Amino acid sequence: MGKQQQRVLVSGAGGFIGHHLTKFLKAHGYWVRGVDLKDSEYETTPADEFLILDLRRWENTLKAVAGTDAVYNLAANMGGIGFIEHNKAVIMHDNVLINVHMLEAARQSGVQRYLYTSSACIYPGYLQKSPQVTPLKEEDAYPADPEDGYGWEKLFSERQCRHYTEDYGVETRVVRFHNIFGPLGTYDGGREKSPAAICRKVALASDGDEIEVWGDGEQTRSYCYIDDCVEGIYRLMQSDFGEPLNLGQDRLVTINQLVDMVAAIAGKRIRRRHNLSAPQGVRGRNSDNTKLREVLRWEPQISLEEGLRRTYTWIEQQVRPKEELRAATVGSTSEVAI
Ligand code: NAD
Repeated sequence: MGKQQQRVLVSGAGGFIGHHLTKFLKAHGYWVRGVDLKDSEYETTPADEFLILDLRRWENTLKAVAGTDAVYNLAANMGGIGFIEHNKAVIMHDNVLINVHMLEAARQSGVQRYLYTSSACIYPGYLQKSPQVTPLKEEDAYPADPEDGYGWEKLFSERQCRHYTEDYGVETRVVRFHNIFGPLGTYDGGREKSPAAICRKVALASDGDEIEVWGDGEQTRSYCYIDDCVEGIYRLMQSDFGEPLNLGQDRLVTINQLVDMVAAIAGKRIRRRHNLSAPQGVRGRNSDNTKLREVLRWEPQISLEEGLRRTYTWIEQQVRPKEELRAATVGSTSEVAI
């Protein structure tokens, strides 16, 4: 695929990963059309064209893909664990419609390559019951027992991609993200994920304050910084690999450790108050990156500490003016979405 003239679509370009990916693709010489329900929230989009379209609707997916050579489909109704556990019907409804229509529209308009953004949420619950979880390999996805709702839709759409390749020859790429974080991502409002929520709460707290953490904080995850994520997406799109591929870091940390790391970056003493009745997702989850290294000849480079430092700095800048306006005592009542 020649780079200079290539026209690509990034759907979900008003969102966190889609916005960063648009910047990356522009920097690599592509003509980019961004599509989303909303404008890019924290920064002006660098896309050559940006269309506000609802991609649940068939006719809009045809408009979105028209004249493009490659599609990066990142549009999805999603959020942190609190959001996905309480909105299963609408998430499945919206995301199935988006992906079924987008893939068919891409086929009909002769798109050369189609990326579907799946998730570590497709991995079976029965493999994620311990904080010391064995890192998840791509083939662990079956027998299926994904996260109920969001995860089932992701698994279904992965297979839809596979069958479009087998039956119609559409070149699909499927990436399974493991907790992507960084600046310009949602940090409040209920859809934020754990790193952003913790950064926000620490930024709003004073030295010695207490913040609420969902669960006992001993649940584990791995976290991947956004710049590594877009580099990995790009490498996967260039590759010949048509099976699902993990994209994440493989360094396991507890949520308590994550809080302590952010507190250290902020230079504040922070106490944790555990809310045991809040949703916390699986007990442990980590990425096995054997295949990622093999296929992409690369692996994520940016350390968790460095990624958190950049993320905290940005979130702190966002919340400070609001907080100064409010000029009220900082509480710890909002929730941490894990
Ligand atoms: P995000 O919510 O920031 O971005 C998704 C974007 O899709 C939003 O801007 C939203 O407005 C848009 N969208 C939703 N419904 C739409 C519709 N009907 N029509 C058009 N646009 C619509 O999320 P993100 O973190 O950037 O995630 C991007 C993709 O990666 C999603 O498919 C998500 O499921 C997947 N993913 C992300 C993570 C992560 O850690 N961030 C992990 C696993 C999978």
